[in-house]
Amino acid sequence: MAECINLATCPFFNDKMSSMPVTANILKKRLCQTDNTNCARFMVFQALGKGNVPSNLFPHQIEDVQEIINKAKSATGQA
Ligand code: SF4
Repeated sequence: MAECINLATCPFFNDKMSSMPVTANILKKRLCQTDNTNCARFMVFQALGKGNVPSNLFPHQIEDVQEIINKAKSATGQA
């Protein structure tokens, strides 16, 4: 387990998102600084690349990941 490779530029980790959840510090410790494999932002990053992570996607919104990936792929004809 290690720090996320996106730590330096991630808007969530750097408090750049509006209305940060009250659990932000817990999520940072558990996901960003320990194991990013359960982070929604990291999942989208891995599937679609850095520029395609929605700016308003929080790490705990795992249930939205598949839909975001499917929409992006169908928009580019990769479905
Ligand atoms: S929110 Fe996700 S993508 Fe951003 S630094 Fe944390 S683990 Fe990485």
